[in-house]
Amino acid sequence: MSEAIDLANETAAARWARFKPIVTGEDYLESLRGRPVNVYLFGEKVAEPVDHPVIRPSINALKMTYDLAIEDPELATAHSDLINARVNRFLHIVGSPNDLVMKNRMQRRMGQLTGTCFQRCAGLDTISVLHSITYDIDAKHGTSYHQRYLEFMRQAQRHNIIIGAGMTDPKGDRSKRPSEQADPDLFMHVTRRTKEGLFVRGAKAHMTGGLNSHWICVMPTMNLGPADKDYAVVGLVPGDAPGLTYIYGRQSCDTRALEAGDIDKGNAKFGGQETLVVFDDVFIPWDHVLMDGEYEFAQEMVARFTAYHRASYVCKTGLGDVMVGAAAAIAEYNGADGASHIKDKLVEMTHLNETIYSSGIASSHEAKQLPSGIYMNDAMLANVCKHNVTRFPYEISRLAQDIAGGLMVTLPSEADFRSNVTGPMLEKYLRGRSNLPVEVRQRMLRLIENMTLGRNAVGYLTESMHGAGSPQAQRIQILRGMEVDRKKGYAENLAGISTATKADAG
Ligand code: SF4
Ligand code: FE
Repeated sequence: MSEAIDLANETAAARWARFKPIVTGEDYLESLRGRPVNVYLFGEKVAEPVDHPVIRPSINALKMTYDLAIEDPELATAHSDLINARVNRFLHIVGSPNDLVMKNRMQRRMGQLTGTCFQRCAGLDTISVLHSITYDIDAKHGTSYHQRYLEFMRQAQRHNIIIGAGMTDPKGDRSKRPSEQADPDLFMHVTRRTKEGLFVRGAKAHMTGGLNSHWICVMPTMNLGPADKDYAVVGLVPGDAPGLTYIYGRQSCDTRALEAGDIDKGNAKFGGQETLVVFDDVFIPWDHVLMDGEYEFAQEMVARFTAYHRASYVCKTGLGDVMVGAAAAIAEYNGADGASHIKDKLVEMTHLNETIYSSGIASSHEAKQLPSGIYMNDAMLANVCKHNVTRFPYEISRLAQDIAGGLMVTLPSEADFRSNVTGPMLEKYLRGRSNLPVEVRQRMLRLIENMTLGRNAVGYLTESMHGAGSPQAQRIQILRGMEVDRKKGYAENLAGISTATKADAG
């Protein structure tokens, strides 16, 4: 019998009693300290993740969501009718299209401030989906998931906690359904139900900010059939629940965080985080179970999640703003900023970046109300936004590398700049404009390297490709929504082709 089963009587109230309300970014850091979490990185158990140099930048990025709420409450907080108080916008239930527009503006700002994935949007989009899905399940089955959800959200808003989204199962053999896998744990499933709650086993992969979240919401990753009933589970689990193991995903150049100095890190303060989270018979009290067996809602849940989350990828336009700024700055340091081709490349980068933003923000403006009263993004425009994100940041990065020049990847280390022997040589030969210290060039080149090749290229490039669904997933949704027959009708109408005309051909 595992340790988790011994805790089967832990109630929802007891779980909340472990959390102190968070106000400031410093409170957030403290809330993560001393948790009994099982975290593995580089083959070793991490004693205190908050103080680990590889992990800390990812925590700093999430901390900024608290700092911004204090610095710019108009942008990063909203009034919650649920508790009649202002709450962090990352915990706000969307009551209007404008709430979604404001969310997008906040995401762009967060991207500008951190230059990386700040990890909090998938959780926000999950709570948006759960509002409407729990309502719809109750309407069909007479369950009480929606009230449970609302009670959880009241507590979440009062405690100002972070919810991580545990969606992506490892999936095993892609040709097989969850219930057909050789190993049943390749999709998360219920292993046992008791009077107090249920137990889940499986793993959630690529979990953005998993370790930095106070709660994890587990949910199905794809459509399910009657044989997959035990896989149709949605539940909320504290991040320090017994039975959880976090295996930290490594990122390119991550060991630079272990080196002395801050220049070669590129962006020393901020980073993203993805973890593989293993659930070994983890207990969830009934009050925190929001789906159990209603497999027919899994597909719609995933579809709604993607409608919200694919528009959330306007976050990358904040990073795009940083890339445009970095390219313009290095051109200036090199003395090349007057060249017309540099200006043209900056225009192209900006055009691509604003194209991403325009599709995302339009998707929010075009949001429609669902039966539960909440608003949801326009799915077509959200898919177009995310599809743009799978491509344009690569081109923006290519142009930034073009402007930066080859020195970005041949630049000697910070230690060589500090050496008594090589330092003076590097100062002499790697200076650009004579009125600027060589360090400004060094720092800007390292930032571009960081975002296009290093740690934050995970957030700016590969996550842009695969986060919220890989490119083909958006193409499938665009195919489903493109209404090609209706459009053929427009064309045939103008061309003077009617059903009768077509029939004439015999
Ligand atoms: Fe938010 Fe963007 Fe990170 Fe997703 S990739 S969590 S939308 S910052
Ligand atoms: Fe993501």
